[in-house]
Amino acid sequence: MPRSVKSMTELNTAYNNELRIAGIVEESIVDGPGIRFTVFTQGCPHNCVGCHNPQTHDFNGGRLTSIDEIFAQFKKNSLLSGATFSGGEPFCQAAVLYELGKRIKSLNKNIMVYSGYTYEQLKELSNEDTGIKNLLSISDILIDGRFEEAERDLSLLYRGSRNQRIIKLKNGEIAEIYPSDIEHLDIRVES
Ligand code: SF4
Repeated sequence: MPRSVKSMTELNTAYNNELRIAGIVEESIVDGPGIRFTVFTQGCPHNCVGCHNPQTHDFNGGRLTSIDEIFAQFKKNSLLSGATFSGGEPFCQAAVLYELGKRIKSLNKNIMVYSGYTYEQLKELSNEDTGIKNLLSISDILIDGRFEEAERDLSLLYRGSRNQRIIKLKNGEIAEIYPSDIEHLDIRVES
């Protein structure tokens, strides 16, 4: 694993209302189905060769903002289908993203999350990290795995490399893994 469970846990138990972000795109049509509010978290331990967002790696970079502020921004746009948490590595700030995600889900909107960890790695980390467990539990779609340059494929829906999977989750468990060559994704919010 690129980062130890201990240090992930330290990051996640340091929960307050603040999230360290690289930026926000208020209306995105490339980070999942429909019109999405994309939060790019700051800080990533993976160091994938060929990463397109190296400015998001520094855990002290970006800027701090409150989830109150982000949620207020989200609520202004009724046309949004949901939010996408991208990065950086969103699961390094899982506890605070869970709090934000819960509020977004209360509006009957969906949550899609990217991670450089695989689902299986996240499940293992979640044994010691409630934030990770909780964030998985409210995520409708997980796009998992590092960006692998040898597997790079620009034709893939919402992904950069073939090893990355689009996984439908229900209560944190895998409901479906979509075919790699899927061309269209429809997210239904599970209750
Ligand atoms: S997980 Fe994403 S942000 Fe992190 S190094 Fe890999 S491609 Fe870049």
